[in-house]
Amino acid sequence: MSEYVKELMAEVIAKNPAEPEFHQAVQEVTESISIVLDRHPEYRAAKVLERIIEPERVITFRVPWVDEQGEVHINRGFRIEMNSAIGPYKGGLRFHPSVNLGILKFLAFEQVFKNSLTSLPMGGGKGGSDFDPKGKSDLKVMRFCQAFMSELYRHIGPNTDVPAGDIGVGGREIGYLFGQYKKLRNEFTGVLTGKGLNWGGSLIRPEATGYGAVYFAAEMLGTKNETLAGKTCLVSGSGNVAQFTVQKINSLGGKVVTLSDSNGYIYDEEGISEEKLEFVMHLKNVRRGRIKEYTDKFKNAVYTELDPKMEYNPLWNHKAECAFPSATQNEINEKDAQNLLNNGVYVVSEGANMPTTIEGVNLFLDNKILYGPGKAANAGGVAVSGLEMSQNSMRLPWTREEVDERLRMIMKNIHATCVLNADRFGTPGNYVNGANIGGFLKVADAMIDQGVV
Ligand code: NDP
Repeated sequence: MSEYVKELMAEVIAKNPAEPEFHQAVQEVTESISIVLDRHPEYRAAKVLERIIEPERVITFRVPWVDEQGEVHINRGFRIEMNSAIGPYKGGLRFHPSVNLGILKFLAFEQVFKNSLTSLPMGGGKGGSDFDPKGKSDLKVMRFCQAFMSELYRHIGPNTDVPAGDIGVGGREIGYLFGQYKKLRNEFTGVLTGKGLNWGGSLIRPEATGYGAVYFAAEMLGTKNETLAGKTCLVSGSGNVAQFTVQKINSLGGKVVTLSDSNGYIYDEEGISEEKLEFVMHLKNVRRGRIKEYTDKFKNAVYTELDPKMEYNPLWNHKAECAFPSATQNEINEKDAQNLLNNGVYVVSEGANMPTTIEGVNLFLDNKILYGPGKAANAGGVAVSGLEMSQNSMRLPWTREEVDERLRMIMKNIHATCVLNADRFGTPGNYVNGANIGGFLKVADAMIDQGVV
């Protein structure tokens, strides 16, 4: 670690105590950007990176709501408006009991670089609540969403801040949030993305993050004249990103053998076919059940309960060529990364945000595998959210083929940007540096143009 990174990190840790995920995200980016600052002292003089690290605005609020039994609940709501240099704040809402300020700041910080990489005019933001929608009735979820929006609506708008979904926030939650925004503001605008198709949503938005992560993997493989056909793939999670990752891998001729949720994972040596994926989608999106039930239906698959006392996750310890972590942050530690390498994995495309610890990332980089970090590999979701904003502004929807083709081109361009910047700054093949630098330059130049604000 250089002196500059050490000093900056000491300050970040002192000013933002008890936010380890935020420290981790900042450290990874700062290590990449220090190469740029050495060549471009003007960025250092203008304290651009220091300004990017400090959110433009942090909003926290009480979310009181009453359930159908008359019981009062109090949750905490957040919106981090991180950076608006290149467009309105844009980033998802996460509803999960683990949500806290540090996690949302790490996600908002990552989002700034990711959104810049898409080449669309979007700043970075993130928000959410410690509310847990899992196992709750539709009525409870609706009441919570309405209470959450009753405060959030004053801070957002189609030209100010445009939230979307993330963990625990899918089509159902976006619908309830949009309905309440519309009622309070008395206007029908594109203030949220991930909307339903017949009320302003974009085709391919549900698919976009998973499809994009697979397109990114295909681009990385293309640099070695290889494709996904015939490759065995490990996928974690079983939510939005995981489901469409499986679908796209299948359509490109790969075979997915794992899926998980927070209780455990299934291993299906025969592969999770389209028919089996349909079962998973119904299980997770309609019945809202647990992944364990997969083995009740498909007897050859094996379920393993997650054991938090174990120092590694056995999901990452199967023979495969590719891995698509698609559940949550830090789900691949150093030991998991070593297991992946030992089992022959040489392509990692991150559907989730920051799913690999810094030690794990360093192992991937040292072994020179094709490692696509989340801010590049999972940018397809926010990219199609950007396309949803364009369609809302034009009041004209595009076809499925048109949006998918744009998504494919955006992922191709993000890949090219990563390769170009990794080369330009002397670290060929390092997609971490490529993504961080590519995302940084556009935001940094815009910030310099706009003065110290
Ligand atoms: P979903 O809520 O649809 O699915 C999340 C999945 O991950 C579920 O299977 C969930 O299991 C599992 N999971 C969540 N938290 C944990 C945990 N602490 N430990 C183990 N498993 C966990 O979310 P998404 O699919 O939308 O998001 C997945 C990841 O992708 C996140 O990192 C998100 O930030 C990232 N991402 C999402 C985008 C999007 O467009 N949706 C865009 C870019 C990134 P369980 O049901 O048991 O909680």
